Amino acid sequence: MNCLSALMNRFTKPHQIDTPPQNEYIESMKIKNHLLDDPKVDTSLQSPNVSKGTIKPEIIVLHYTASGGEDGKGDATYLSRASSRASAHVVAGRNGSLDQIVPFNKRAWHAGKSEYKGVNDVNDFSIGIEIDNWGWLDGRGLNVPEDQIHHETRNGKKTWEKYKPEQLEAVDEVIGAIVAKYDIVDIVGHEDIAPGRKQDPGPALDEFTAKMKEKYLGKAKPAPKTEAPSKEGTKKVTGDGLRLRVRPNRHATILTHLYKGYEVKVLQENVFPGWDKVQYKNKVGYVANQYLT
Ligand SMILES: [Zn+2]
Repeated sequence: MNCLSALMNRFTKPHQIDTPPQNEYIESMKIKNHLLDDPKVDTSLQSPNVSKGTIKPEIIVLHYTASGGEDGKGDATYLSRASSRASAHVVAGRNGSLDQIVPFNKRAWHAGKSEYKGVNDVNDFSIGIEIDNWGWLDGRGLNVPEDQIHHETRNGKKTWEKYKPEQLEAVDEVIGAIVAKYDIVDIVGHEDIAPGRKQDPGPALDEFTAKMKEKYLGKAKPAPKTEAPSKEGTKKVTGDGLRLRVRPNRHATILTHLYKGYEVKVLQENVFPGWDKVQYKNKVGYVANQYLT
């Protein structure tokens, strides 16, 4: 032992004893002006592929890019070109790189024709995260080593690229930040909201998605049951000026106002937590069900 190491030990030892576990020091990722505010996240590319106005995100949609590359720059760049006519909020590279190319309160173009619990156009109320991954591999001649292959049959495909641990760690952090900031009720895969049309993120991500739901939505914010309770019938409006909206959220366009004593036909109860899908005359929309009896 030389003098220097003796010195270092003398000063480092007592300090180490009082050092809490390393993860006590990891600050959670923050969101500022609807952008992730963290040295790990590159927000320099901003995609023009967004709709006018703002959204209130309620679910998170996970995707794979069906592409190669170590970091997500290639995909972030592609999705930031007007010609791609597509975007997502966040791109996560295989090496854990993160690019946010659309602010979370803007409508990105990631879900396409889609439906979540009877509500169309999931882009209107969701955050899209693209994760770099080839997806299914069957017969594509991609050079993916065997230990990186997930074997499970779905949609007629048998082999899928595994997601990288550092990549999932990064996505985990992003989801944590989003859930802390917005009122998120579910985390789904693109295939869940566009079945028959989309296969991403595929079976290789199932375990991670389940883990995220348990970690972030498990106790504090229970996700709505897969089978939303449905009961046809009529209910009466209990308040004056109740808003019938095009979508089940407080920022959605108002179709009409309903007044005390009006009767509405209930098409689906609690389609989203706190919202019933109802019909009044020829108008179908959503109302906060605390004002129905
Ligand atoms: Zn997708």
